[in-house]
Amino acid sequence: MADRVTVVGGGLAGCEAAWQLARCGIGVDLYEMRPVRMTEAHRTDRLAELVCSNSFRNASLETAVGCLKEEMRRLGSLVLTVAERTSVPAGACLAVDRHLFAAEVTRAIAEHPHVRLHRRELEALPDGVAIIATGPLTSPPLSAALERLCGAAHLYFYDAIAPIVARESIDMEIAYKASRYAKGGDDYINCPMTRETYYAFVDAVLAAEKVPAKQFERTVYFEGCMPIEEMARRGRDTLAFGPMRPVGLIDPRTGARPFAVVQLRQDDVEGRLFNMVGFQTKLTYPEQRRVLRMIPGLAAAEFVRLGSLHRNTFVDSPNVLMPTLQLRMARTTFLAGQIIGVEGYVESAAAGLLAGINAARLVAGAQLVTPPATTALGSLLAYVTHRGRRDFQPMNANYGLFPPIAGRGRGREKKLKLAERALADFDRWAEAEGVSGQLRPRMEARVLPAASP
Ligand SMILES: Cc1cc2nc3c(=O)[nH]c(=O)nc-3n(C[C@H](O)[C@H](O)[C@H](O)COP(=O)(O)OP(=O)(O)OC[C@H]3O[C@@H](n4cnc5c(N)ncnc54)[C@H](O)[C@@H]3O)c2cc1C
Repeated sequence: MADRVTVVGGGLAGCEAAWQLARCGIGVDLYEMRPVRMTEAHRTDRLAELVCSNSFRNASLETAVGCLKEEMRRLGSLVLTVAERTSVPAGACLAVDRHLFAAEVTRAIAEHPHVRLHRRELEALPDGVAIIATGPLTSPPLSAALERLCGAAHLYFYDAIAPIVARESIDMEIAYKASRYAKGGDDYINCPMTRETYYAFVDAVLAAEKVPAKQFERTVYFEGCMPIEEMARRGRDTLAFGPMRPVGLIDPRTGARPFAVVQLRQDDVEGRLFNMVGFQTKLTYPEQRRVLRMIPGLAAAEFVRLGSLHRNTFVDSPNVLMPTLQLRMARTTFLAGQIIGVEGYVESAAAGLLAGINAARLVAGAQLVTPPATTALGSLLAYVTHRGRRDFQPMNANYGLFPPIAGRGRGREKKLKLAERALADFDRWAEAEGVSGQLRPRMEARVLPAASP
């Protein structure tokens, strides 16, 4: 096995992966195409540039993304360390000075003696052990190479995400289970609407604030999935003839067909999460929470993911990726970051962290690892790599992905219990597998010496 690893993409995932490898004493060739070739969203030549918000989201253990950050901290994450060092006041969130953050990550990577930084676009998949972390805006030649390797059906170029709701927050006194024309059992949850509630909902959708589409995104939106607000704009009845059509969905309580219906389809094997069928949207997040809670049965809905639409290159992970982040068809090639179908800065960096650890272990001849499904990282990877999942769409860390915990408890209390279990299991796993900071040197001893910079 070669003693160097190629990392393609110097974003959040690629930098985290390179850092983890370099810490293990492994030589890294990191390829970043900027500034020679820019993406549509990046503006600088810095590594780990944050393309939009400067927030790494909530920092408390009451949120799964807070728990994920704590797990990353325990594994010595570069992204998290630098984020904390360059943080700016942001209430319960961890937000950073984006310029300082990117500058510090760039310096840490570029000055590391085990890393060679190449400012060049890679157009083909590299030989040897490699991590592909080229993100949602992967350059077209490399996308084509991935498409050839994985199969055209397993690479996507944009996502149209419909919101996902926690099952327990749906009011089943109002919603009912049924499939259209009773075909396929009671698989769907249906939220019935009267004429009045439907038109009030459509008016609210039309009036709600939307996230403006970036120029480069406009052409991709309407090829496939159309956002609900665009359908509503085309006519007040369009939704009732589209995703909200009520045909074949008799409400058992009234014995009649509602005027319109919002359908929710099971999204996870355990039946804890339900996605809103055909409800991809670019309403702003606060507006989604407000407007979607007007739907009968969803007044107290807990959204584990909100809707969005944007250009996004990502693979069909349930079919092509192993939980260790190796490609099933090329096991010396790892994928990391948003390209695996996780959503968000923190999730992308966390995937890079695990890919770096596993690539290091592959080089060292050690067994590859995945955190348990009770942890924030483990539950996210279990979701994205769960074999057989159809209609795969990107996901961010959320407590809905965690296996339920015994005993009662709701809301904040339940979330803190999930976090407590996650961190205890995470520590046990890290200790047993030798992936914590202290245990790492055991493995380093078996790694070939790094080439000089
Ligand atoms: C427009 C937009 C806005 C977003 N806003 C947010 C947000 O506000 N908050 C949030 O949490 N998430 C956001 N995301 C989602 C996601 O978290 C980020 O895109 C995140 O940066 C992904 O990390 P990454 O490392 O996978 O990819 P990136 O950070 O994009 O890094 C990939 C790197 O690979 C390089 N590259 C691409 N192709 C090649 C090649 N062939 N050869 C060499 N280098 C290559 C790129 O130049 C880039 O530097 C946004 C995504 C997009 C597209």
